[in-house]
Amino acid sequence: MQHNCALFGIFGHDDAVSLSHLGLYALQHRGQESAGIVSTSGERLERQVGLGLVNQVFNKRKLAAIRGTRAIGHCRYSTSGSCTDANAQPLLFSFAGGQVALAHNGNLINASLLRRKYEEVGHIFQSTSDTEVIIHLLAKPAHQQKKFPLNHVLNHLQGAYCLLLLFSDRMIAVRDPLGFRPLCLGHMDNGAVVVASETKAFDMIGATYDRDVEPGEIVTISDAGVESRRFGGDMGGRGAACIFEQIYFADPSSLVFGENVHLVRAKMGQQLAIESPAEGDLVVPIPTCATCAATGYAKQIGIPYGRAFTTSHYAGRSFIMPTQSDRDIAVRMKLNVIKEAVKGQRLIVVEDSVVRGTTTRAKIGALRKAGAKEIHLRVASPPIRHPCYFGIDFPTQNELIANTRTVDEIRDFLEVDSLQYISHEGMLSCVQMPPEKYCTACFSGNYPMSVDEPVEKFAMEHGQMQMFT
Ligand code: SF4
Repeated sequence: MQHNCALFGIFGHDDAVSLSHLGLYALQHRGQESAGIVSTSGERLERQVGLGLVNQVFNKRKLAAIRGTRAIGHCRYSTSGSCTDANAQPLLFSFAGGQVALAHNGNLINASLLRRKYEEVGHIFQSTSDTEVIIHLLAKPAHQQKKFPLNHVLNHLQGAYCLLLLFSDRMIAVRDPLGFRPLCLGHMDNGAVVVASETKAFDMIGATYDRDVEPGEIVTISDAGVESRRFGGDMGGRGAACIFEQIYFADPSSLVFGENVHLVRAKMGQQLAIESPAEGDLVVPIPTCATCAATGYAKQIGIPYGRAFTTSHYAGRSFIMPTQSDRDIAVRMKLNVIKEAVKGQRLIVVEDSVVRGTTTRAKIGALRKAGAKEIHLRVASPPIRHPCYFGIDFPTQNELIANTRTVDEIRDFLEVDSLQYISHEGMLSCVQMPPEKYCTACFSGNYPMSVDEPVEKFAMEHGQMQMFT
């Protein structure tokens, strides 16, 4: 299961490029395949992008090569299209309306259909990501003739999208009408306006959080100030804030959908302990995402919280590995069991989520080998049974362990003494918005919009629509 992408933007600061670099650095957890910044001082837009982590893409020379008082930046994990230079964002194009840079977090479920229509009339695409079709929609003369071209462009898009657009004279932030992904607005002491996927980026650069960009809102930032417009119509009180941002994706220090991620996760751990207490000597998290939930679980149940693993921050990410044996090696490189802490102990192990189950099994196996007497696994999210079409790169449905096995069968596969998940209702009781404002489709199968023709991640490379298996 992979993260999605990060957006960062700043308007009105002499150090816009270096602040964007820091902002992206703070948001690195959301995407590790490529990074990029486009900047301007009000004239030409300049772009630097590359494959890899932020600190691999940007050195002093690359940062010095672009200048400006306005900038947008992006970290990418691809949920559509492969990891290539051409797909690195922000994308930069010239059209009749001038230059425009575009950065996207999310996934457009109708991108292949739109692209095919444009290709049939001769449009040439530079990338294989879903994002580029937005530029083609924007450049369409019929849209450019409208008073607000972007409103008409957005009406064509289906799926999850937070967007940042940079023109020479303005920066625009957009959040889709159901608000799948988070996007925050803030300011700096000098009056510069900042936008970021998570408030962690604001903390990094000393900016103040003001509010979220609302679902269905277009925020235009220019020398004239900040202007807000609505699009997308009335959603009838529904929303689709991705609950997995709270469970796994976002950084614990961030405010996401208006509340702190660590506190939400700790509450989920408490709720899990209320629903599924276990007897044991020590509550331990599977690092690092389950740490917050484990503290909540331990507090609620009154059993000491401890560590069973040390974590190497230098070992890379196990999910990128192509084969299971590679992933197992990566897990061993990344997590090392503290044998003396677990030997002879009855462990209550808290995990944030179980996707394929293979990585969790490897970690449980390591605890057994180190001499744990009993292992009771508690999971701070419900069983994942359905794929995500909205910007999270889940394995295929058949690879999701809860899709093909019962909880008892999963317990046996993971080789734990007991296994319990938090309930769907219990999970939703830990977040502040009402249930109808969240997407929980990967647990429930209730998708917030119909996905008639789901496209496979590399559909645009293959030159054809391909159905999920
Ligand atoms: S399906 Fe799951 S991961 Fe995807 S947007 Fe909905 S809650 Fe988030």
